[in-house]
Amino acid sequence: MTIRTTTPEATESVGQRLGSACRGGELIGLVGDLGTGKTCMVRGVAAGLGIDPSRVSSPSFTLIGEHRGRLSLFHIDLYRLDNRPIDELWLREYLFGSGVAVVEWFDRLHEPVSKEQLRITLAYAGGDERIVSFAASGTRHRALLASLGTAGC
Ligand code: ADP
Ligand code: MG
Repeated sequence: MTIRTTTPEATESVGQRLGSACRGGELIGLVGDLGTGKTCMVRGVAAGLGIDPSRVSSPSFTLIGEHRGRLSLFHIDLYRLDNRPIDELWLREYLFGSGVAVVEWFDRLHEPVSKEQLRITLAYAGGDERIVSFAASGTRHRALLASLGTAGC
């Protein structure tokens, strides 16, 4: 599924609907160049989980931000990491835990992530427009994607 957003608020709103639909155990991988809106999307997910979106930091200075909401949100940003094996990064407990894991620069994970996931790719489409593509694998994540519907996009 592919949608277009024309404002940061619209991208955040998509994230919020995803966050609202999360039940625990979700893995959301974000792929896209700098400034395409990955962190913006994470802020929305935070809001959907009842977390103050402003607590989600934009600069990629931290590897893992943990936020407590209706469910725990693990915001992982791999921007500053080389391609290292996922086990070495001790990320498994976050990626495959009972909270919601959202990973920026998901494509930098060296080993293929075998678990079911929702992969979201953001791309520039001129000005403030972004093309946002979704690919879900597994029942849980397909249901998560379905929760978006098409309204408001
Ligand atoms: P990333 O995490 O991918 O590097 P950020 O979310 O930190 O990107 O920043 C995205 C930037 O692009 C913000 O400054 C935001 O205001 C701007 N922007 C403009 N249009 C959009 C849009 N449609 N969706 C998301 N962000 C947008
Ligand atoms: Mg970012």
